[in-house]
Amino acid sequence: PSVTTMLEDGNRPEDIICRVLDGMDVEIMDKVPTMFDCSCSKERVEKAIVSIGKEEIQSMIDEGEPIEVNCHFCNSHYIFTVDDLEHIIQRSR
Ligand SMILES: [Zn+2]
Repeated sequence: PSVTTMLEDGNRPEDIICRVLDGMDVEIMDKVPTMFDCSCSKERVEKAIVSIGKEEIQSMIDEGEPIEVNCHFCNSHYIFTVDDLEHIIQRSR
């Protein structure tokens, strides 16, 4: 099963390791707390928009509607207005 399924079934990380390394001598040396943290930001999304090229950005501007960019990792939504897009295209010249 996937890691997500095993965690949902109540397995601790140690349980999952023992399952994956079944038959091997497992010794837990250390534990480190973890948390979900996405490094996305409006600035980073802006860089991604720049990378699609001026023509694409211009065609989004010509459509006259704000665009929404969603981060696939944390599901954050970033809205770029036509003004934002114009600033992006000016700065990338
Ligand atoms: Zn994110």
